[in-house]
Amino acid sequence: MIDGQGRQIGYLRLSVTDRCNCRCTYCMAEGGVPMLGHADILSFEELTAIVRAAAELGVTKVRLTGGEPLVRRGIVDLVRMVAAVPGVAEVAMTTNACLLAPVAAELREAGLTRINVSLDTLRADRYEKITRGGRLEDALAGLEAARAAGFEHTKINCVLMGGVNDDEVADVAGLAKGEPYDVRFIELMPIGPAATWPQGSFVSADVVTETLPELRFIGREGVAELYQAKSWAGCVGLIRPMSHKFCDGCSRIRVTADGRLKPCLHSAAEIGLRGLGHDELLAALRAGIAAKPKYHHMDENHASESARDMNEIGG
Ligand code: SAM
Ligand code: SF4
Repeated sequence: MIDGQGRQIGYLRLSVTDRCNCRCTYCMAEGGVPMLGHADILSFEELTAIVRAAAELGVTKVRLTGGEPLVRRGIVDLVRMVAAVPGVAEVAMTTNACLLAPVAAELREAGLTRINVSLDTLRADRYEKITRGGRLEDALAGLEAARAAGFEHTKINCVLMGGVNDDEVADVAGLAKGEPYDVRFIELMPIGPAATWPQGSFVSADVVTETLPELRFIGREGVAELYQAKSWAGCVGLIRPMSHKFCDGCSRIRVTADGRLKPCLHSAAEIGLRGLGHDELLAALRAGIAAKPKYHHMDENHASESARDMNEIGG
């Protein structure tokens, strides 16, 4: 389906839980985060019904995210259900990968096609601090298990944080030298706990091309600019919500774990999908796609207009 700005919407991001085994400093508050109750979270049947309606409207790619999708019990079954929906060609997942190693092969067998692993540092002590308790070795084991299970072109997402990990650009990008990983540097966004972080935390992704002048621009893919260096197996992507407007390349809609359609990550607009029959779901999705704003206003306001944190929406 085409939205009001002429963009083809083919990509649905489903948050399958707001819970997480980590507490990344920029994403979730350390303690006392109010969590949805089990009854508030969409069931697998409800999630699949939304995917079925979205696929009828032209969605071909579904990403399962959260919170941490791997903490949702039965996630392999959900992957199987979503992958079986007619029209769905790609089922991807965004994960911190700490719980991935034991289930990577099962996920692949169930129909998961792509994995994005969030990895902001390659230093174990830093990893523990950023994730508040996560273990780098678990995440790296997950990444390796994904490779062994046959997942290709795995993306590695690294959020750039001034004074926290911006000295590690060369090391993290270096993961793409020997393996065909797509290492993506994402500018920190003022949403969730990061909304109150000092200005110096928000570094432009220019730091990546400045640190690695051998990178050559090879094109755009959705909201990312892609770069590659001679003889590297993989590539480097820059996602710059803060320093550049990328909204003209946006093809996505999002659904929160409690069943609210968000036409834009950074807008407060939401449409309730819970309890709707198939035709009503189609109408609600059509309305949401039509209501997608032209672009976000984060760079002008230095604030997201979304009333929710990233673990609730799904990044
Ligand atoms: N738990 C999974 C993970 O970490 O990959 C999936 C959910 S997480 C909310 C999805 C992505 O959002 C992660 O790559 C995370 O780094 C990113 N994210 C969370 N808060 C962010 C912020 N304030 N700015 C930029 N990216 C953020
Ligand atoms: Fe959890 Fe992902 Fe948020 Fe980190 S970024 S707290 S892993 S949901």
